[in-house]
Amino acid sequence: MNSVSNVLIVGGGIGGLCAAIALCRKGIAVDLVELKSEWTVYGVGIIQQSNVVREMHRLGLLEAYLDAAYAFEDVGIYSVEGEPLVRIPGHRLAGPQYPANVGISRRALHKVLSETAIELGTQVRLGTTLEGFDQDDEGVTVAFTDGSQGRYQLVVGADGLFSKVRGLLFGDKYQPRFTGQSVWRYNFPRAAGIDHLANYQGPSGNAGLVPLADDLMYLFTTSHEPTNPRMDESVLAEEMRKRLEGFGGLIGQLREQITNGAEVVYKPLEAVFVDEPWYSGRVLLIGDAAHATTPHLGQGAGMAIEDAVVLAEEITAGGTIQEQLKRFIERRFERCKFISENSLMAGEKEIQRDPAFDRIGLVKQMLEVTARPI
Ligand SMILES: Cc1cc2nc3c(=O)[nH]c(=O)nc-3n(C[C@H](O)[C@H](O)[C@H](O)COP(=O)(O)OP(=O)(O)OC[C@H]3O[C@@H](n4cnc5c(N)ncnc54)[C@H](O)[C@@H]3O)c2cc1C
Repeated sequence: MNSVSNVLIVGGGIGGLCAAIALCRKGIAVDLVELKSEWTVYGVGIIQQSNVVREMHRLGLLEAYLDAAYAFEDVGIYSVEGEPLVRIPGHRLAGPQYPANVGISRRALHKVLSETAIELGTQVRLGTTLEGFDQDDEGVTVAFTDGSQGRYQLVVGADGLFSKVRGLLFGDKYQPRFTGQSVWRYNFPRAAGIDHLANYQGPSGNAGLVPLADDLMYLFTTSHEPTNPRMDESVLAEEMRKRLEGFGGLIGQLREQITNGAEVVYKPLEAVFVDEPWYSGRVLLIGDAAHATTPHLGQGAGMAIEDAVVLAEEITAGGTIQEQLKRFIERRFERCKFISENSLMAGEKEIQRDPAFDRIGLVKQMLEVTARPI
């Protein structure tokens, strides 16, 4: 018998949905509130590395997930001219019959996760969030924005970078900060050679190509934007081409095909890390709400997914809720801090144009750390 039998999840993104799936599979009743009244996600892709493939298997999702994704084995690092420097082999952590890594469109991932969460019994309310909560030793009474109330044994804030739950727990102590860089993304038909994650070391930033489907890949690049400018759609294509000046090879060829500002996805990079246990009483933060970082290591969503799996394990592993949440933090804190700090460090090195920055070494270290059991 689980000591926690019902949970409220605030936020229906990657972390919240994976937590809903993991908890439902343990027989726990889950309510989920999502602020957006239309449950859409923006149309670019995401890299999911071998630790994520492993956790998708543990969530019982792997077949549907792989059907929606592009599987690949290794990561290639290339020079600014597109010359291959090194191939870093992937680890098949989900088992020898499954791929090491995948690229997947955010929409396809959202469809798999949201359909599974609902099939398993998650009660989803869109266009709703929590107004506030009161907690005591036995549970949390939550007031919702639609005027209703609920009583839960655990509340999980999975509401992302600008988390309202984080504000309710910690006030304004932890605020997202702009890191000085932005990322630019553009979809293309997949080029024949892009059957792996291809990373190009540019003069002032990094660029990459990520396969998402047989006929789709996306190009990303990071850039230093000290003033965090607002970018109007009418200038986005030209500005993205400028950020890619200096790249030869395939990136140079693709640069000239970036012509439609409406298709450029531009995002200033912001980060926050809650540098103390991510809970108070029976209210816990997971995912970006606790540890949003930059995409330099392609692990933000990976950490949110791992949080979800570990949470479901710990709150069904006996002890009091305080013991369960303490065990959760012990398993998650240092690992997420490593990803958070090293992603930020990679961005800093790009800003400084530090020729001594060992990106290949960092990627290898990240793969080694994330391959370890959670
Ligand atoms: C440019 C970029 C590229 C990235 N690429 C990768 C990558 O390749 N691989 C990778 O692993 N990670 C990547 N990440 C990181 C990844 O996107 C995040 O770490 C991940 O989405 C975190 O999931 P989450 O569920 O915690 O938060 P989110 O995905 O932000 O979801 C939060 C959800 O909560 C909802 N919400 C917000 N406020 C409220 C509220 N008050 N009440 C209710 N609901 C609310 C939101 O609408 C949203 O649905 C990237 C990030 C960026 C910025």
